Amino acid sequence: MLRVSHLTKKFGELVAVNDLSFHVAEGQIYGIAGPNGAGKSTIYNLITGYHDFEGEILFDGTPIAGMAPHKIAQLGISRTFQVPETFPSLTAAQSIGVGCHFGDSEAYDQARVDEIIAFLDLAQDRDCMADELNLLGKKKVMIGAALATRPKILLLDEPMAGSNAHEIRDLMELIKRINQEMGVTIIIIEHFMKVLTELTQKLLIIDAGARIAEGDPEEVIRDPHVIECYLGE
Ligand code: ADP
Ligand code: MG
Repeated sequence: MLRVSHLTKKFGELVAVNDLSFHVAEGQIYGIAGPNGAGKSTIYNLITGYHDFEGEILFDGTPIAGMAPHKIAQLGISRTFQVPETFPSLTAAQSIGVGCHFGDSEAYDQARVDEIIAFLDLAQDRDCMADELNLLGKKKVMIGAALATRPKILLLDEPMAGSNAHEIRDLMELIKRINQEMGVTIIIIEHFMKVLTELTQKLLIIDAGARIAEGDPEEVIRDPHVIECYLGE
């Protein structure tokens, strides 16, 4: 579904992503991990069209190089951010509704919004201001807005950041349901190895923009190169 080949991104002298290749199969939950500054979020910025790059990214066989972010969203690629950003003065339901305009049809779809609110168990919060919700509520609204675009693939950037053990459980269940019940392929960047080993079928570890290891998550986390690259953290 997503095929990344020899992806390289330089910011001046800094090589943020260095000749990186990987592919994500339809239906998979694919994990990406690595130390801070390894280039993880930059990979998402490249896939979603926020920077130009060297190399190739194919989505369902279509090269996305040079495409505008809204065109890439219309193809079926959607993302969330490390820190949930809410729209000021919009309710939870309205915030999710904004996502509809970035999807393929570009039209507001009340039925889709209602469906997502039920799916996220947000009925009690639907008319609350999004920026007054707690962290889990804000995260759900951000995920809901991403789902409103009807994505084929959802890119999650450290969805567990700042969450307690109970919230992490909830989010893990939610991510599994998005994958299994909605049929959305998922890439997840995450620091918590237990989350990655439980959720993902394949795990990529990067450091300084380059691949350290990739494969079965349980095997990858025992790889001596991976252990070494985390020791400096
Ligand atoms: P991670 O998400 O793995 O923590 P990032 O992808 O955010 O890492 O950043 C990788 C490196 O690229 C860091 O050194 C960061 O400072 C740098 N970087 C990221 N985005 C930009 C940018 N827009 N301009 C300049 N440097 C950037
Ligand atoms: Mg990051």
